[in-house]
Amino acid sequence: MRQSKLFTKTRKEAPKDEVSLNAQLLIRAGFINKEMAGVYSILPLGLRVINKIANIVREEMNVTGGVELQSTALQKQEVWEKTNRWSDAVVDNWFKTKLKNGSELALAFTHEEPMANMMKNFISSHKDLPVYVYDIRTVFRNEARAKSGIMRGREFFWKALYSFSKNEKEHNEYYEKAKIAYKNVFDRVGLGEKTFMTFASGGSFSKYSHEFQTVSEAGEDIIYIDEEKKIAVNREVYTDEVLKDLDLNKEKLVEKKAIEVGNIFSLGYKFSEPFGLKYKDEKGEDQFVFMGCYGIGISRLMGVIVELFNDSRGIVWPEAVSPFAVHLLSLGQDEEAEKIYNQLEEKGIEVLFDDRDVRAGEKFADSDLIGIPWRIVVSGKSLEKGGVEIKRRNSQESEIVAVDEIISKLR
Ligand code: ATP
Ligand code: MG
Repeated sequence: MRQSKLFTKTRKEAPKDEVSLNAQLLIRAGFINKEMAGVYSILPLGLRVINKIANIVREEMNVTGGVELQSTALQKQEVWEKTNRWSDAVVDNWFKTKLKNGSELALAFTHEEPMANMMKNFISSHKDLPVYVYDIRTVFRNEARAKSGIMRGREFFWKALYSFSKNEKEHNEYYEKAKIAYKNVFDRVGLGEKTFMTFASGGSFSKYSHEFQTVSEAGEDIIYIDEEKKIAVNREVYTDEVLKDLDLNKEKLVEKKAIEVGNIFSLGYKFSEPFGLKYKDEKGEDQFVFMGCYGIGISRLMGVIVELFNDSRGIVWPEAVSPFAVHLLSLGQDEEAEKIYNQLEEKGIEVLFDDRDVRAGEKFADSDLIGIPWRIVVSGKSLEKGGVEIKRRNSQESEIVAVDEIISKLR
């Protein structure tokens, strides 16, 4: 993409009311635009990152046997009354609205009820199970606090998967697969080393749920980590009995602030019972479907990655989620740079080509702020030295590489 066509501009300052580092950097670099507290437009650069994260999530969900669908944002009262979750006293973060005829609707904050209700149309026999459906979409929550930038939005982008199994045993097998898929997602987006599977409160069908918590000073949760076993316990369930449980040595646990990037939850019959979601087993007897749900905060992940990977000059994207692989800067050498741009594009390498007519200093500062992993500078000086100057965003060193060796260098 040509930077001259990218309408966004970098900014020296973030809005004064923006207190979180992730949103400050993402706004300054032109990835998001703040509409109001907790509500951000995703700009072209940001959308490329979101799409990369979403595709990694999609691939890993597909490996587990997940099938993608698109749910609705508008939800009806009747469905939520079945589980007593329509009431604002029970769910305090609903956004509600009305139809012209006066009946009430809400904007989706999650989809357990609509999914259980919808699946009644498709599940009737043991042959229809198991089913794993997932949805990548925007959801809405009237969060009381919106001080964590895109890590806590009032509208945000997530993946939610709902599992429908014949029984607890079949559910547990899937649950274990989901743990592996989640680990793969967080490894692939670059957060693996700092992300811990964390025991959290379970609800009526299992003692624990599992959260995936990424250690960060900007986090809103406190977890206790066993660094050898690579697991943690959320403060909300942290008691002596639980630790004995889990066979953790208290002494060794390290207390850290962390942010929840995903969670997996056994729901049991909590939703299938009120909706009458049943199937006939092999003997022809009615059984309730055993459900689970599995969330990943995709837009939150973009924020967490920025919180973890930045320096005084800007963002430092991990390669797998960077908006582009290469930032190509032309310093008065547009013809030569144009050739290189076309070559890289032909090879399928994603390039942001800074073809703007601005000062070199501005190009360098913008490049550091935007944070693409590889920078290639084409200047009179570099050509005199025999090629282009290549530098990684996270390194001080640059080197001169001959034009026809650029591609092998990048690989
Ligand atoms: P939290 O404790 O942070 O409020 P939650 O328990 O409400 O999270 P879930 O309802 O299980 O989270 O949602 C699944 C995932 O969606 C979370 O693990 C998190 O990554 C993400 N998420 C939840 N709330 C928000 C939000 N307001 N903004 C962005 N992402 C969110
Ligand atoms: Mg919440």
